[in-house]
Amino acid sequence: MVQGYLDAIKIHSNLNAFIDVWEKDAIERASLIDIKIAKGSAGKLAGVVIAIKSNMCLEGKRVNASSKILDDFESLYTATAVQRLMDEDAIIIGSCNCDEMAMGASSENSAYGPVLNAANKDYVPGGSSGGSAVAVQAGMCHAALGSDTGGSIRQPAAFTGMVGYKPSYGVISRWGLLAYASSFDQIGPITRSSEDAALLTEIMSGPDEKDATVSNKQWNLNLGTSPSKKKYAIIKEAMELEGLDAEVKEAFEKRIQAIKDAGNEVEEISFPYLDYVVPTYYILTTAEASSNLSRYSGLTYGHRSEKSEDLESTFTLSRSEGFGKEVQRRIILGTFVLSSDYYDAYYKKGLQVRQLIRNWTKNAFESYDAILSPTSATPAFKIGEKAANPIAMYLADLLTVHANLAGNPAISIPMTKSEKGLPMGLQIMGEMNKDQILLSIAHQLEGLIK
Ligand code: GLN
Repeated sequence: MVQGYLDAIKIHSNLNAFIDVWEKDAIERASLIDIKIAKGSAGKLAGVVIAIKSNMCLEGKRVNASSKILDDFESLYTATAVQRLMDEDAIIIGSCNCDEMAMGASSENSAYGPVLNAANKDYVPGGSSGGSAVAVQAGMCHAALGSDTGGSIRQPAAFTGMVGYKPSYGVISRWGLLAYASSFDQIGPITRSSEDAALLTEIMSGPDEKDATVSNKQWNLNLGTSPSKKKYAIIKEAMELEGLDAEVKEAFEKRIQAIKDAGNEVEEISFPYLDYVVPTYYILTTAEASSNLSRYSGLTYGHRSEKSEDLESTFTLSRSEGFGKEVQRRIILGTFVLSSDYYDAYYKKGLQVRQLIRNWTKNAFESYDAILSPTSATPAFKIGEKAANPIAMYLADLLTVHANLAGNPAISIPMTKSEKGLPMGLQIMGEMNKDQILLSIAHQLEGLIK
């Protein structure tokens, strides 16, 4: 099986989904696991081939979050999530290309070139975990890990026709994930079914003394089989969005009808903060990023400019040479919103709006089992289409950032394909820390909406 995937990776190398492929290690591990299988001592994921995003650490392997600032930097330790998969005998086949430092919605921001969508190579696969999504889409591994700060697992899953799941904040340890915005970042799987997503997440979840924000709970994510009827909400403002693509809208409405026909209740509710989610997300995440990324200074590790002469020029030149445009833009924006003159007007306001969104969301789940929406307002867009317009790119996150602002779990499942053959996803957002219920709903809806 490993050999088959390695061959597929070679055949599809033009998709640019991988940064590194660990061929030798994967084959060696496969032989060891074959012995374990023969002995009957193999783990739950024996022989499952998994790709990780290039912002996750695996000891002795290059980790660079698709950025030149780290380029050939080798991990000194292994991320908890990755270690837990390996402890169950998963085989990690390589690291996937993504937007630099997980900042983007198209996987075009990578220092290693854009990732192409296997459904149509003129189109982006979404981002930032675009390489992970394409690795699964094009049959180069069983499943892949992504990270989701504002939609980076769900939106590429939607654009490639895969399942992408962002667990509740705190389900999976962030130890060994290169930080973008720590109060938003979550690791999660990109798979072909919610069943696989549940299995991988349960294995990766649980307490970890190396991450103070991870929940102490032991998670049981076994999919429930109960066919009970559910009460769903859809957000009125999302359905009235000017930028909502007609094909996406029609496909979503059809699925809602099927869900109703199966005896579930669906009601439209008003979410008065929809206009504010993207600005709030970009104020808070850039603030956190400006702090997190200050560690890449050219002093301790990563790229150091050859032209540096003193402390100041080491900082300035190393960061200017090492970071791409989008990352620089966000560091500057984040530094601005945290500066003493603007802190109250932007950062503090952003925190207050985040609290309002959290309160609204908590309240909504007193009446509803889940909130349904398209994962993205449009199907995949063309490579280069939004690259020169950051605001248009930021709006691609409109329907996904809500779950990260509130911390709630959310999953994208495949809905259908557009006339051009581009996949679209349906997003299900669940109640905070009720991931098992969300996954069971996803499993049920997967069967209903195909
Ligand atoms: N597209 C969003 C951004 O650019 C989400 C990124 C993410 O979830 N890592 O920030």
